[in-house]
Amino acid sequence: MFEILEKNNISRARVGRLETKNGGVITPVFMPIATYGAVKNLSVNELESLGAQIILGNTYHLWLRPGASIIKKAGGLHKFMNWGRPILTDSGGFQVFSLSRHRKITEEGVQFNNPSDGKKCFLTPEQSIQIQLDLGSDIIMTLDECTPYPCEYDYARKSVELTGRWAERCKIYFEKKMAKIESAKRPLLFGIVQGSVYEDLRKKSAGQLVAMDFDGYAIGSVANAYEPREYIWKVIEWVIPKLPENKPRYMMGLGRPEEIVKMVSLGIDMFDCVIPTREARHGRLYKFSAKGGSASGGKVKSLPRGNGVTLRGEKLRIINQKSKFYETIQITNEKFKDDFGPIDKNCDCYACQNFSRAYLNHLFKTKEGLALRLASIHNLQFYLSLAERLSGKKN
Ligand SMILES: [Zn+2]
Repeated sequence: MFEILEKNNISRARVGRLETKNGGVITPVFMPIATYGAVKNLSVNELESLGAQIILGNTYHLWLRPGASIIKKAGGLHKFMNWGRPILTDSGGFQVFSLSRHRKITEEGVQFNNPSDGKKCFLTPEQSIQIQLDLGSDIIMTLDECTPYPCEYDYARKSVELTGRWAERCKIYFEKKMAKIESAKRPLLFGIVQGSVYEDLRKKSAGQLVAMDFDGYAIGSVANAYEPREYIWKVIEWVIPKLPENKPRYMMGLGRPEEIVKMVSLGIDMFDCVIPTREARHGRLYKFSAKGGSASGGKVKSLPRGNGVTLRGEKLRIINQKSKFYETIQITNEKFKDDFGPIDKNCDCYACQNFSRAYLNHLFKTKEGLALRLASIHNLQFYLSLAERLSGKKN
């Protein structure tokens, strides 16, 4: 169930509330990635205090380790990792296509070798749904074929057709399994638009999925496998008009902060991305610019806390791709060794409230685990508060 709470009158941006069996989520929303049932280096208490509304678990990884049966036995992923808020799980498709060698795609499903022990595995659309049901996911994704890049038109066309048939099998299986489950306890099922870099195929894929009536729609294989980043905008331009207004839209695996702002203005509601946690592990920290975000054309010079990018007024429009409303610092640089200020004096995360840049610099140099934890907390705070500023609402 998705309710649009507010629409922006100069762009396609909207604020919504997505109801799941484990509570509501205010969109636009950023979902931290809990690959193996943990956001790297963070506890669930920390995630909760950062205000994470929903996290993403990777079906492929959890299926191979520890296995869906163990997680089911634990009472589902929520109980296993002690997280009470919503969880979205991907279908496993992206990892099968990006991590596994010797994969073989057939009409039935995809065969691949488990990278950790070399054993053959086979994943079908029905099985992907069953694994996600066993995990207890709140938002389940259909199994799709993630196309490589570059991708010949003919391959992409056949792939879109296969992805369409797999989506239908996912939907049929899901409906059968949910037949006796009351609607408030049912997870949501999202379809994934594919079609590589071809306009007609992207539109066809969106049309096929919309005809099947999913609870939400994701866009896959955009700038995930070497597709030029300009395709982010082209694909959104092609696909969004094909999708129903009253369903959430999820751009998988993207993006940089300025891209998220722009995608929201084009009508995307949900995001996940490895950037904040991966960059944190390398000591690259994000902060909103204290002064001089060079927004073209306008009033917004910076994004002070609480009133910067919101859907109200015209502010969103002028935050274009080129405007820098944020900056990054490399905390491992020598110049921070005696800088006793916080990472960002305007940030209220645990790291900024309690520790200095000099201390973080030292922790990184001495390879203390706490360095990764504090840096991840801070970068996630940046991404989560960006989404929160875009929605202008707290859950
Ligand atoms: Zn901070």
